[in-house]
Amino acid sequence: MRTVKETAIENRIEELLGKMTLDEKISMIHGSGFFKSDGVKRLGIPDIFYSDGPMGIRRNFKNAEWVKLEENDDYVTYLPSNSALASTWNREQAGKMGDILGAEARARGKDISLAPGINIKRTPLCGRNFEYMSEDPKLIEELVVPFIKEVQKYDVASCVKHYAFNSQESERMSVDSVVDERAAREIYLPGFKAAVQKAGTYSIMSAYNRYKGIFCSHSKELLEDILREEWGFDGAVVSDWGAVHDTVAAAEVGLDVEMDVRPCFDDYFLANPLKKLVAEGKISEEYIDKKIRNILRLMFRINMLDGDRAEGSYNTREHQEAVLECAKESIILLKNDEDVLPLKKEKGKKIAIIGLNASVEHADGGGSAEINALYEICPLMGIRMQLGGSCDLRYAKGYDESGTDKLMPKALELAKASDEVIFVGGLNHKYDVEGWDRKDMKLPFNQDELISELLKINPNTVIVMEAGSPVDMSAWADKAKAIVWMYYSGMEGGKALAEILFGACNPSGKLAETFPVHLEDSPAHAIGEFPGKLEGEDKRVCYNESVYVGYRYYTSKKVKPMFCFGHGLSYTEFEYSDICAETEENNGLNLKVSVMIENTGKLAGKEVVQLYISPVDPTVERPVLELKAFDKIELKAGEKKKAEFVLDESAFAYWDTDRHTFVAPAGKYEILAGASSENILQKTVVELKNEYVVK
Ligand code: BGC
Repeated sequence: MRTVKETAIENRIEELLGKMTLDEKISMIHGSGFFKSDGVKRLGIPDIFYSDGPMGIRRNFKNAEWVKLEENDDYVTYLPSNSALASTWNREQAGKMGDILGAEARARGKDISLAPGINIKRTPLCGRNFEYMSEDPKLIEELVVPFIKEVQKYDVASCVKHYAFNSQESERMSVDSVVDERAAREIYLPGFKAAVQKAGTYSIMSAYNRYKGIFCSHSKELLEDILREEWGFDGAVVSDWGAVHDTVAAAEVGLDVEMDVRPCFDDYFLANPLKKLVAEGKISEEYIDKKIRNILRLMFRINMLDGDRAEGSYNTREHQEAVLECAKESIILLKNDEDVLPLKKEKGKKIAIIGLNASVEHADGGGSAEINALYEICPLMGIRMQLGGSCDLRYAKGYDESGTDKLMPKALELAKASDEVIFVGGLNHKYDVEGWDRKDMKLPFNQDELISELLKINPNTVIVMEAGSPVDMSAWADKAKAIVWMYYSGMEGGKALAEILFGACNPSGKLAETFPVHLEDSPAHAIGEFPGKLEGEDKRVCYNESVYVGYRYYTSKKVKPMFCFGHGLSYTEFEYSDICAETEENNGLNLKVSVMIENTGKLAGKEVVQLYISPVDPTVERPVLELKAFDKIELKAGEKKKAEFVLDESAFAYWDTDRHTFVAPAGKYEILAGASSENILQKTVVELKNEYVVK
């Protein structure tokens, strides 16, 4: 049922549509600039301006040339990447980052923000993993909803991307992702469904790849049957840039705007070629009208036609403070034997910082996620700011992009002459980049050797990895006592890291993806299905691991990862006790779970309490562990709090391929509370008396 306001909007849409010529309609459904599609001036319909991206509002380009607009002030707040954001496991942080993105988009005159990217991390190698959140649909769902809602508060439409099954960059423009129905429904689609139904996203981007042999931008199943019919989406579908390949196919499905990277805007499939086919009577104008309705609806929703629009702001002090907080919560303490961390700030102490990533900036890279950061505090600067001249701080690169050999001796000398050594290495956007997947998980530039040598000199060397996706740490992880992980963490990332290293902030990030020991341990690689068969006409990648993605695979098949999903240490200790579950079945399931968490250490800290389910004797194949709820709880030293969760029947459901719906079978389930997928600290069993068909 439409509200009065919605009905009024629909009437206005019909009124405007009735006044439009075919040329005017066609001008609205394709790009007329790389980041612009036309309005109809005569009718007071403005042009629409689009902007990447997920880590901040991208710089402006010339309308029809991939050349940046020099005269433009497009320095902005650089947000932690989505992989960093997901490591906070904090819905509030997701909302705050959405708030900044929305405010900066609006202040920069943008209407549609091409973010967030929520594709599932199927392999550690995907070049765009840094832009994506997680291997787990529940975590994505919980973070994407506040993110989008906050963006849209500023009368900016979120364009959540890339719908769907775009989990690799290799041959992304043509590869057919072969995904079984259960994996599609249980793993790859829930994030998008939540973006539509729970966040009310005003737009969605159709992906480059194919699904069931059909390009996603031409797919009736994806764009109409699932997105519009089943999920009730009535906003605008925007193609990825160059994802449309055929006029009739794109015209007749629920795709609304064709965007591309080519400057020949009138030749786009939904431009002159479409006009010709309509004139010849080969395509009905009614298809175009449907697209116009969706576009106008989006425009009304963000008040583009009313003139009464929210105001934005950018580069504010508040935005900078907020990204610092988010970065601090995103950094993950992977290992801390013998409490090597936090380091002490002692007058005159000699500290060596070694590694290229300590001194390089990352904002301006990675493909469409690149941004012009107003500033970027790299780790070396962050540590200098933190120590304020009280220590004797020296820096040596130790390696560079051409190999390391000539820089290593100096770094080792410095390490020998220092009391503490902090190594900051990892990857950069030559590896974490759109358009390419990594070839392997190895650390580049001979870093393994350098780290091993540093650990021989000083076994307390703190290893900081800054990267957008997992790296193979097997050469030295068992020898290192302290390992800290940071994703590309925004303009205040170096400061956040320094606060954690020196104990001004207690780490609370947790892995939103599994780090395998070796690449071959990860599911897509274990079955030899990455990057797929990429020669010939029918390029395809078969997601044969099905629902066994990420920790669902490692826990079910008993493969030991290097660091498991949900893992992350703190400088304090948490104890779990008294799990309690009460089931109420009355026209649906209402399961209340509580567990006590106590901070038994000496410092205040935050713990991400994770709730998993495990079916007991399931009648269909199910992963042994699935995340169903989580909460991030702040506790003072000695404080105790109850973490409370409510699960409904959907938490117990799998996708039934006979009935084509989610079904929660009757039976027993373990309810597991823990600090990670491998560190389950409390469990209980509940029984569902009824089977539920979940809507
Ligand atoms: C990317 C999208 C991006 C678009 C516009 C494409 O290559 O896949 O994520 O939004 O370019 O820059």
